[in-house]
Amino acid sequence: MKTIALGYHDVIGAGSPPDASGFPGPTAARYKLDAEEFGRHLSAIAEVHAPVLADARTLGAKSSGPIPLILTFDDGGAGALAAADLLGRYGWGGHFLITVGRIGTNGFLDKEGVRELRRRGHVVGSHSCTHPERMSLLTPEAQRDEWTKSVLILSDMLGEQVDVASVPGGYYSPVVARTASASGIRTLFTSEPTSRLHDVDGCLVVGRYSVLRGTSPSAVAAIASGRFPPRLRQTLLWNAKKTAKFVGGESYLKVRRFIIARGGQS
Ligand SMILES: [Zn+2]
Repeated sequence: MKTIALGYHDVIGAGSPPDASGFPGPTAARYKLDAEEFGRHLSAIAEVHAPVLADARTLGAKSSGPIPLILTFDDGGAGALAAADLLGRYGWGGHFLITVGRIGTNGFLDKEGVRELRRRGHVVGSHSCTHPERMSLLTPEAQRDEWTKSVLILSDMLGEQVDVASVPGGYYSPVVARTASASGIRTLFTSEPTSRLHDVDGCLVVGRYSVLRGTSPSAVAAIASGRFPPRLRQTLLWNAKKTAKFVGGESYLKVRRFIIARGGQS
C-alpha cells in the first residue's frame, strides 16, 4: 500500500499577516498559504479526482484501488480553522497536528479550537509539546517525554485516545518512530518525500510532500493524481521552474508537458 500525503502548515485568513497564525518569522512564513491560494489548491485537487482519505488510521486496512491522498496540517496555528472551512466545502477530512505546548498562546488554536476541529470530523494529533528543532537529536527519554505528554494532554482535551502524530522540524530517525510507538502513537507523519509506508514497532510511518507558499495548484494536482514519477514529486512541488535546473532539460520538458496537459501553467 502506498499513499501520497501533502504536508501543509498554516492557512492565513484574508487580509491577515503571516504571523497571525503559527510560528512567527520569515522561515515559517514560507510554509504559510493565504486562504485564497489554499482554496485554489483544493480546487485543483478536486479537478483530478484525487481520492482524499479522511483518516490515515484506516491505511493499513486498504490493499487495492487508487493511491489515496492525505492532507495534513502541522503546528496547530490559529488558521487551522480557516483550512477546515475550506476542506468542508469539499467534504474532505484533514489531519491537524498540534504543538501542544502552544495551545492558547498568541497565533495558535486554543482548546476550544482544537475541539472544534475534532467536532468537524478531522483527525487531531500531536506535533510534540515544545516543537524541538531537531527531534532526532534529543535523547530517547526526551523524545518519549515530548510524545507522551502531548498525547496525554490532547487525549484529555478531546475525551478520546489520540494516536496520530507528526515529527516537528522534519528531523526523523527510526528512534523517533520507536519512541512515538512506545507513547501509543500508531500513525506517524514525517517530512520524508516518499509514498511508501513502513512499520516501526507497530507504528505506521507515513512520508509527506511539503507544500510551500507559491506552489502552483497544477503542481499540487499533478502530485495528488498519483501519476507523477515519485523521484520528481518534491522538486515539482517546490518550484516547477527551478525543477528545470535541478533535473536537466529533458526531464523538465516532461514536467512541463505533464502540467500543460493537465490544464495548468508552468
Ligand atoms: Zn512544525
